[in-house]
Amino acid sequence: MGIDKYKVTSGNKFLLKNYETTPGKNPMYDKKERADILKKNKDEIRVLQSRLYADGKAGVLIVLQGMDGGGKDSVIRNVIGVNPQGVKVHNFRQPSTRELNHDYLWRVIPVLPQRGMISIFNRSYYEDVLVVKVHELYRKLNILDRCKDDGTIKRRYKQIKNFEEYLWENGVITVKLFLHLSKEEQCKRFLRRIDREDKNWKFSDSDLKERGYWDNYQEAYETAIAATSTPENPWWILPADKKEYTHVVASEVILETLKALNPQYPVVTKEQRQTLIKNREILTGKNA
Ligand code: AMP
Ligand code: MG
Repeated sequence: MGIDKYKVTSGNKFLLKNYETTPGKNPMYDKKERADILKKNKDEIRVLQSRLYADGKAGVLIVLQGMDGGGKDSVIRNVIGVNPQGVKVHNFRQPSTRELNHDYLWRVIPVLPQRGMISIFNRSYYEDVLVVKVHELYRKLNILDRCKDDGTIKRRYKQIKNFEEYLWENGVITVKLFLHLSKEEQCKRFLRRIDREDKNWKFSDSDLKERGYWDNYQEAYETAIAATSTPENPWWILPADKKEYTHVVASEVILETLKALNPQYPVVTKEQRQTLIKNREILTGKNA
């Protein structure tokens, strides 16, 4: 079974409560071996990223979603240890007025990964069916009535699923990671942000306000994940209460995705080989 127990490929019978927020009774990786596995995986990811870039055929989009304090930043910091030139990270915050004057996918398009690259979305277009659903923000848009009626969020699930299918058919694979955090652990992490001076900047009153909508968010995540999980673009429900465990599983998921793409260094043709040999001779002064 391996990490597949965290994989969601269809919305059929999907319930968040069937997934653990902790490593559970039978963790896949022993506490003692987690750091070593993470290091080994990062080394392999580094090599595969370099091949992905050299190959230049596929793009990888990693979508990170989760409640505040879920550990999105720390996944980016700890798991993606590749050449910074091959990866671009984008944060999606509250949309600007200019962004709100466009359809919700507009701000995403320019930052999609080009072939050979990895894009990481710290939050994403999924916010448009999460916070926007919980607070019914779409109703406030200056937009045609038929575009902000009761069916808006349902249509967006379909649009997002189609969008990701479109990307997949055009060589971009979307890996969606949900950091599944318990309400108790979020409380602990918020307290740490209050108690530790170097973490104060990370805490805002609005984090506590949103915590008040915990159940609404869980429902919104559950419905969104069920509606947009496919074999090509699955969701991964990562237990997020123990960070070192989250990081190993996330690294396994990214590694598996890159391995499945199987990027190759371009094959050198006979003529190119001849030229290389000639260049070698010039450099070494032999047969010059
Ligand atoms: P942070 O990730 O802590 O920087 O917070 C970013 C905030 O922006 C979160 O509270 C998100 O819910 C919010 N946000 C992101 N995208 C949207 C959106 N499309 N509409 C409204 N709020 C959003
Ligand atoms: Mg925040």
